[in-house]
Amino acid sequence: MKTRNYILLIIVLAAVAFWVYSSTRLVSYEDTAPVLGPITMRVVIGNDSTLKTSPQQAVQQAFEAARKINNAMSAYQEDSEIAQLNRLAKGERLALSKETWLVMQEAMRYHRLSDGAFDVTVGPLIELYRPLRNLAEGEPVVFPTPEIIAAARARVGSQYLKFTEAGRFVEVIQDGIRVDLGAIAKGFAVDLAVEKLLSLGVQNCLVEIGGETRCTGEHPEGRPWRQAIQDPRSPHDPGASLLVLEEGECALATSGDYQQYFEYQGTRYSHIIDPRSGFPVTGPLVGVTVIAPTCLQADAIATSLSVLGEREAAAFIARFEEQGVKAILQLAVQDGEIQLIHLPVE
Ligand code: ADP
Ligand code: MG
Repeated sequence: MKTRNYILLIIVLAAVAFWVYSSTRLVSYEDTAPVLGPITMRVVIGNDSTLKTSPQQAVQQAFEAARKINNAMSAYQEDSEIAQLNRLAKGERLALSKETWLVMQEAMRYHRLSDGAFDVTVGPLIELYRPLRNLAEGEPVVFPTPEIIAAARARVGSQYLKFTEAGRFVEVIQDGIRVDLGAIAKGFAVDLAVEKLLSLGVQNCLVEIGGETRCTGEHPEGRPWRQAIQDPRSPHDPGASLLVLEEGECALATSGDYQQYFEYQGTRYSHIIDPRSGFPVTGPLVGVTVIAPTCLQADAIATSLSVLGEREAAAFIARFEEQGVKAILQLAVQDGEIQLIHLPVE
């Protein structure tokens, strides 16, 4: 064969190889399912040759991992560990599973790091304000009296939980304790689902539960994963984004559900509570997005920042400098405009 023909053959072979490579990479598998009560989970995986099962099975196992977390940690599921914990009387204790123990220890760590702004014992205050978010049209908001708020606050405080590592026991040292892991368990479930997928040989994936996301590797199209920050002014339009991020491998969580609030005397009150005052969080900070190595971290930091507010946010984010944690604050300014503040400031 002539040299020219050789070159031609090599070019054709290279083109075929590239076509095969890119077409196998392009093929991916995606599915959604309700996993945390009504909250939907979305999993996208690349067609990785290292996969040990079918893509369908891998995704089902990721759903199962997240459902297991909900069954253990949902305060609304009667037989969950957290529901059992919430039924304990002063002086009683409960042995926790490895996963719930871990999430509780992380919750205590963020409580310390945030100087009390993050507190999973806020349950009594959440129960106080939740009915106000679900009033029928025209029904007046009756704001709780200072006495009622004080009574709920007396049952709030992570110091009322005592942990014993041997046996993984938690003891309540106050009556009426109500733990709610709503600000941390979703992120943990995302992390566990990603770990499950990695153990099954997945190299490229994105897992999302109710807006909390984590991705590894890259998008099946061979580009970094992209994630959008929803525009709070258009909560019903998933296409309306404030900013599209291309961060590569990371986790991302947003705090501030724009649909969960009530209004009283012209002020909008969030479903996030400041346990230090007993009041729901109010503006101008309407949303916080956090980018961190794990989704548990992103989730807990986002809620902490919502409570700490824009003034304390920079100092708090600086505590996570080594892990490269970043935050984007959404601040409501005049005329319904949203100003984005990136932390740490570069
Ligand atoms: P979203 O529900 O918008 O994702 P978060 O991740 O911030 O928001 O979680 C909010 C949930 O966290 C609330 O519904 C409640 O269950 C719980 N929560 C509210 N205030 C606090 C707080 N100060 N510390 C810890 N958890 C909280
Ligand atoms: Mg959160």
